Amino acid sequence: MHRDNEVANAFALRDGSNIAVIGGGPAGSFFSIFALKMARMLDREFNITIFEPKDFTQDGPRGCNRCGGIISELLVQTLAVEGINLPDSVIRKGIHSYKLHTNHGHVYIATPDFERTIATVYRGGGPKGMMKEGKESFDNFLLTQAVKEGAVHESLRIDRIEYKNKRPVLFSRNDEIMEAGLVVGAFGVNSTTAKIFEDLGFGYKEPSTVTAAIVEIHMSKDIVLKYFGNSIHLFLLPDRGIKFAAMIPKGSYVTLCILGQNISAGIVNDFLNKPVVKGVLPKTSSYSIECRCLPKMNIRAPKRPFADRLVMCGDAGSTRLFKDGLGAAYLMGKAAAKTAVFQGVSKEHFQKDYHPVYRSIVIDNYYGKYLYAIIDICRGNSILTKGMLSVVRKEQDIFFDRRKILSSILWDMFTGNERYRNIFPKALDLRTHLSLWKESAKALVKGEI
Ligand SMILES: Cc1cc2nc3c(=O)[nH]c(=O)nc-3n(C[C@H](O)[C@H](O)[C@H](O)COP(=O)(O)OP(=O)(O)OC[C@H]3O[C@@H](n4cnc5c(N)ncnc54)[C@H](O)[C@@H]3O)c2cc1C
Repeated sequence: MHRDNEVANAFALRDGSNIAVIGGGPAGSFFSIFALKMARMLDREFNITIFEPKDFTQDGPRGCNRCGGIISELLVQTLAVEGINLPDSVIRKGIHSYKLHTNHGHVYIATPDFERTIATVYRGGGPKGMMKEGKESFDNFLLTQAVKEGAVHESLRIDRIEYKNKRPVLFSRNDEIMEAGLVVGAFGVNSTTAKIFEDLGFGYKEPSTVTAAIVEIHMSKDIVLKYFGNSIHLFLLPDRGIKFAAMIPKGSYVTLCILGQNISAGIVNDFLNKPVVKGVLPKTSSYSIECRCLPKMNIRAPKRPFADRLVMCGDAGSTRLFKDGLGAAYLMGKAAAKTAVFQGVSKEHFQKDYHPVYRSIVIDNYYGKYLYAIIDICRGNSILTKGMLSVVRKEQDIFFDRRKILSSILWDMFTGNERYRNIFPKALDLRTHLSLWKESAKALVKGEI
């Protein structure tokens, strides 16, 4: 039979088809929620099983999918439109501003849209002892939504896939678990699971990653409020290895994320001892460091993220560079679900309908790389850093000015609010360049701002 006919006949999901989702993080849950909603629109029924060994109701490392936990205002709103309303029990804090710290001073950048707020969440139960606060984790909330839609959650780790009769068969500890009409790889980048897919030989190769750092800093709620308020504290320092760091307030904790090339435990210690960082934290007797980890972060998408009856979502596929991984998991999960339910599950179907969304994120990251290169130049040069601070201060002082270009570039770079390609034209704004050079020249002449 010609491949076109075979594709049309053999690769459409039929009622009762088994779909195996490997990983119950955001990408796996988003895929499942949307696939089940879309199937209902067509009056169809699929059996979706989410394989996820972690228990996201547990605090400490057992339930944690290591992350800063910033959910952009855009994602909060988009999910609400999709009928996924984040309850108060999931949100640890609403964020209204960024406080940007440099070696030459700081500045507040308020949310450009006062009606919209960034949410901060924990991906698991939070640091040890946190469950006492009666809150729910983001990943548990999403997984529960997927189960409510009709998915089944199996607390199993999949460790092998074989093909039988041209269909993928999943194994866990040598037990055959299921034959699937479609396998969704939503396993992130923090396990060895990519190897299972590499071994299938269709050309998938683990995404390129860097090592980041997360530190959970415990202090009383009052102290969090007093020192951090409703702001994310962002550090742009001239260190070579660190691109940026953020302190994200969450109830009685502050999550510190350090992103860069390859962050080590030593770099974390050095960072915590920097005068500008010590100036932001309360006195050392008022806080304790509860846990630290060095998770991997996807910085380059893999080639061949799909094959017949296989598709990757979230970090196992393409994600936004250095920000908004959760927004990218939403986009990829939905694109994969739409293709599988409305079109089919052959590589041709994924190439036509899922790949354009995948590729749009890959292309967007090229713009992101360029924009980070500009920020690297500014943070590495004290005169430009001073000029940048001065321009942003002036922009923030003018309440009604719609042209707060530099403020909005910085805001959008570090939230998931905007795609990099939409920030890019702002970075070419002539008036902002002139202001930056003027303020930098003033700093050079004065020796200070
Ligand atoms: C330091 C750091 C800070 C970040 N901060 C933010 C932020 O503030 N905001 C934001 O939007 N993004 C952030 N991200 C990115 C975000 O964490 C990821 O993009 C997001 O977690 C991707 O979701 P996912 O579902 O693809 O993968 P994951 O969240 O990694 O989930 C994968 C799941 O698959 C499971 N799994 C793995 N292998 C198997 C297997 N063999 N069988 C069964 N299950 C398996 C794992 O247990 C895990 O639960 C950050 C990342 C890092 C490293």
